[in-house]
Amino acid sequence: MTEEATKTLQNYFATFTPGTRPLLLLDYDGTLAPFRVDRSKARPYTGVREAIAKIIHQGQTRLVIITGRPAREIGPLLRGFPPIIDQPIEVWGLHGSERLHADGRRELEEAPPATQRRLDELREYLRHNNLGGEFEDKPNAAVMHWRGASPRTAKFIEMRTRELFEPISRLDGLMLLQFEGGLELRVGRDKGAAIRTLVGEMPAGTPVAYVGDDVTDEAAFIALNQIPAPHLSVLMRGEPRETAANLWLRPPSGLRGFLKRWYKALQNEGRRKKVA
Ligand SMILES: [Mg+2]
Repeated sequence: MTEEATKTLQNYFATFTPGTRPLLLLDYDGTLAPFRVDRSKARPYTGVREAIAKIIHQGQTRLVIITGRPAREIGPLLRGFPPIIDQPIEVWGLHGSERLHADGRRELEEAPPATQRRLDELREYLRHNNLGGEFEDKPNAAVMHWRGASPRTAKFIEMRTRELFEPISRLDGLMLLQFEGGLELRVGRDKGAAIRTLVGEMPAGTPVAYVGDDVTDEAAFIALNQIPAPHLSVLMRGEPRETAANLWLRPPSGLRGFLKRWYKALQNEGRRKKVA
């Protein structure tokens, strides 16, 4: 970790005053777990489940996962078997359109009926014709993946996907979401709106951090950077890129170090409280 990164982290953790219950928001794919072509095999990096379990058991952090996946996919991947994380975690799915509370309640944002119809027609078409890519069928979106394909094939799939998605994306309520190795045509809230909702539920001044890797996480970084309370936006990625995030860390060592420091910052805060 660079000296500057260490300093940014120290400054952030110094805002954990006695009694604070910070909010820790984490993306899943590419952030906690390395990329896998078979998405059902994307398990967290070594030691990450244990680090998260420690933070949860410490009982001072509100930890929430915000993912592009349907929310229900996260629990089994994150927990491990037998479970290392033994408590249910709140998950926001579909880039913020879906909310799965820790107690199992689920909320899904609804699209206008005409828009939903067009989207459903497109999903039906793609179920039979995947354009040579990997089609992911979501209730609020059609997603085409080409990561892992050869550059030539990827270019071809992207071209065909854009031809199909772009005209429909101009319809009311629909938007295109570009991510690394794919394109999503979707309706609903983005990760930035999810973050604003979560922060709004916490007492004013609650420190909040968001960790993500993809271009879709930029909406989250931007939303976080506008919060008046102490905040930290972290780009977790093998290589740096142009980003709105305050800090760049490289996984998995940067991730493990970050989680460890988070836990320790709250331990120290507890000790200070006892002394005082
Ligand atoms: Mg990601």
